Amino acid sequence: MSETAPRTGYREVLNFINGRFEPSREGRTFAGVSPVDGAQVAVIHEAGRADVEAAVKAARAALKGPWGRLPQAERLAILHRVADGIQQRFDEFVDAECLDTGKPRESCRHVDIPRGAANFRVFADLVKNVPTEAFTMDTPDGATALNYALRVPRGVIAVVCPWNLPLLLMTWKVGPALACGNTVIVKPSEETPLTAALLGEVMNAAGVPPGVYNVVNGFGPDSAGAYLTEHPDVDGITFTGESGTGEVIMRAAAQGLRSVSFELGGKNPALIFADANLDDAIPTIIRSTFINCGQVCLGTERIYVERPLFAEFVARMKVATEQLKIGPPDEPGVTLGPLISQLHREKVLGYYQLAVAEGATVVTGGGIPDLPAALAGGAWIQPTIWTGLPPSARTNREEIFGPCCHISPFDTEAEAIAVANDTAYGLTGVIFTRDLARAHRVAAQLEVGICWVNSWFLRDLRTPFGGMKHSGIGREGGVHSLEFYTELRNICIRY
Ligand code: NAD
Repeated sequence: MSETAPRTGYREVLNFINGRFEPSREGRTFAGVSPVDGAQVAVIHEAGRADVEAAVKAARAALKGPWGRLPQAERLAILHRVADGIQQRFDEFVDAECLDTGKPRESCRHVDIPRGAANFRVFADLVKNVPTEAFTMDTPDGATALNYALRVPRGVIAVVCPWNLPLLLMTWKVGPALACGNTVIVKPSEETPLTAALLGEVMNAAGVPPGVYNVVNGFGPDSAGAYLTEHPDVDGITFTGESGTGEVIMRAAAQGLRSVSFELGGKNPALIFADANLDDAIPTIIRSTFINCGQVCLGTERIYVERPLFAEFVARMKVATEQLKIGPPDEPGVTLGPLISQLHREKVLGYYQLAVAEGATVVTGGGIPDLPAALAGGAWIQPTIWTGLPPSARTNREEIFGPCCHISPFDTEAEAIAVANDTAYGLTGVIFTRDLARAHRVAAQLEVGICWVNSWFLRDLRTPFGGMKHSGIGREGGVHSLEFYTELRNICIRY
C-alpha cells in the first residue's frame, strides 16, 4: 500500500479505499492505453468483490463517524480546500486527463479541470443557502402544530462514471454528494481512471476523513461496476453513461429499492430557422457537433435547417469542418483529438459505413484521416457530415457518439418540432432564430431536458440538468441535486 499513486514509467493506478491507495485484493490488473498512439500508459488495479466490500464498509463507517458528525461549516470548508487542491495541482490533472483521453490540452485547461474544481465550490456554497418549507396548523384539540422539513444525507452513494469528461462529470456528482454530507464510492470508466486516483491524493491533503471518498476501478459487468451497484449497503446510485447500461443498473437498484439518478444518452437535434444569424450558428454548431471529437452527451447529431438556408448552411458547415485541425493534445491549434479507444472507433466507423449503405450523401469526411506514422495506433477518425437520409434511417435514430452529424431541410415550424421530437431520446435541443416568440414557442414544445437558443453548452450550475425519455431519470444541478443527495424528513411539533 502507498499513500500516493506511483508515477514512474507508466502509471500504476490503485484503488483508493478508506483514505489509502490499495492494490487489487485478487491481484487483477488491466492495461490503460493511450488513444493517441495505442501505447500502454497505465496498469490499473481491478477491484473485485472484496475491494468493493471494503470500500462500502469504509464509506458506511465514515458516514456514521467523523464525516457524519462534522459541523456543516467545517465540511464545506474542507470541500473548498479540495477545490483549492485541484487548482494547486492543475497541471497534473491536465496531464492525467490528456493522457487518458487524448483530447486537446487546451480543452482540459479551459473546460474539464476548472469545472472539476468549480463543482466542489458551487455545491459547497449552495447547500448553505437552501431553505426548506415550514407550515403551522391547528390541531383538532385546539393546539398548534409546526411542521418543518429537515434535509438529511441519503447515505452511501455509488457514482458510476463515463469516459468522455472524466473529472468534470465525476465531480459533478461527488461535489454535491459530499456537500450534502454523504459518502461516495466512485467507479470511474475503465478507459479513464487517472484523475479519480489523483483526486484521492487531493482529498487526503484537504483533510477529507478516510472513507468519505473511495475509488474502485474496473469494468461494468462481472466487475467493479456491477459489484458496486448490486451492493445492498449502497443507498443510492448516480450514473452517467449509455441508456442501455442505465437499464441494467436500474435492475440492480431494484434489489433493495435503492434510488437512482441517471444522465444517459442523446440524439440531440438543432433547428436552424431561415432568420438565423449564420455567423453565430455555424461556429456554435461546429462546436456542438465536433467538440471532444463528438463525444459529448449534449452534442448535436441531427441538424434541421429551414429550406431557404439549407444549401448555404451545408456549404458553410463543410468549409468549417474541413478547417478543424486533428492532432495530439499538445500540437498547437489542434481542435480535434482521437476517439476514446479502438473499440469505440470500430463502432463509429460502423455507423460511417451504415450511413453510406442507407444512401447518405457524404458532404465531408467518412473515414480515417492521414496522420504521421507515429499516430497509426491511435483511434483517429475524420469529422463527418451527411445529408439525404430520412428521419427513419438508423443513422438519424441511434446515438453514434462520434464527430458526425446529419443535416436535413424542413419547411414549417410544426414539421421541425415533429422531426426533432421523433426520437427515443430527450436530452438537449438547440434553436437558432432571431424571432423571440418563435424561440419561446418551439423551446416549450421540444421534448428535452435542456434547450439552448442561439447558443450551446452555456452551463449555469444552478440550473436543472438532465434528460427526458431514454436520456435520463431525475435532474441534478443547483437545488435539484439536493433532491437526490438528501432525504427530506418532516418533523411535526405540537405545542
Ligand atoms: P457506458 O454506459 O458504457 O459506461 C459508463 C460507466 O458504466 C462505466 O464506468 C462502465 O464501466 C459502467 N458500467 C458498464 N456496464 C455496467 C454494469 N452492468 N453495471 C455497472 N456499471 C456498468 O457509457 P460510456 O461509453 O462510458 O459513456 C458514453 C455514454 O454516456 C453515451 O451514451 C453518452 O451519451 C452518455 N453520457 C451522458 C451524459 C449525460 O449527462 N446525460 C454525460 C456524458 C455521457
